[in-house]
Amino acid sequence: MLHGKVAIVTGGTRGIGFSVVETFLKNGASVALFGSRQETVNKALEKIKAENPEWNVMGLSPDLADYEAVEAAVNQVKEHFGRLDILVNNAGISARESLYEYDPKAFQRIMDLNVNAVFNGCRAVAPIMKAQGGGVILNTSSMVSLYGQPSGVGYPTSKFAVNGLTKSLARELGHDNIRVNAVAPGVTRTDMVAALPEEMVKRICAPIPMGRMGEPQEVANAFLFLASDLASYVTGEVLSVDGAAQA
Ligand code: NAD
Repeated sequence: MLHGKVAIVTGGTRGIGFSVVETFLKNGASVALFGSRQETVNKALEKIKAENPEWNVMGLSPDLADYEAVEAAVNQVKEHFGRLDILVNNAGISARESLYEYDPKAFQRIMDLNVNAVFNGCRAVAPIMKAQGGGVILNTSSMVSLYGQPSGVGYPTSKFAVNGLTKSLARELGHDNIRVNAVAPGVTRTDMVAALPEEMVKRICAPIPMGRMGEPQEVANAFLFLASDLASYVTGEVLSVDGAAQA
């Protein structure tokens, strides 16, 4: 579905991002994964190469909150693969603190990665995609972007911003044939969730109509659809993949 395409996936070393990287590779794309540290990036690359040494993959670790660093990394990918078709802004951190204990610096950190880094990625790739005649930008939102959450206010705030950025850029960049969409996962079985006690997992899943959490592959499948030409007239959407948790 992505034969000949070149993609960047931020936060591609584990969890949902890693699953997106594998899925894009399996579907014929060349992929650059971005992670926070080169050491974890290299480990992810080793894992991918062990799976299939033929896959076209590279990895970098720019500071995503620093625009110049992001622009330099994006240009490096374009030079390496010769083009750039897809950006997946996936790196993100969450928060649970109550407002009474919320460190303003922690609020700033969450906005730096979950919002500013998304802007930086879009800003860096858009001119390249425009010059190439089009492209696809995908952002990772969350089910909490529709109704908030009762603690850790920085996280839902950042994901509301991601939706705003997605819808606005879809309108701004549609003229340049650049589609901009988001995927809003519900509770997904990443490393963080896998480490939770069984009792807690049951409690988390109880209110989900489908009665279970999502698998990273199920979220990656939504990214694959939106990245592919099957979604050629879909833009400005926030696609929920949450077992009807927010329906
Ligand atoms: P994860 O913690 O398993 O992976 C996060 C990824 O982001 C890692 O690759 C990590 O290297 C990268 N990252 C973290 N801090 C970074 C930084 N400062 N600079 C660069 N990269 C950094 O998380 P996940 O659960 O796979 O989440 C991925 C995305 O999905 C996030 O945007 C998250 O908000 C969103 N999401 C996750 C869930 C869930 O239940 N897991 C639900 C809704 C939305």
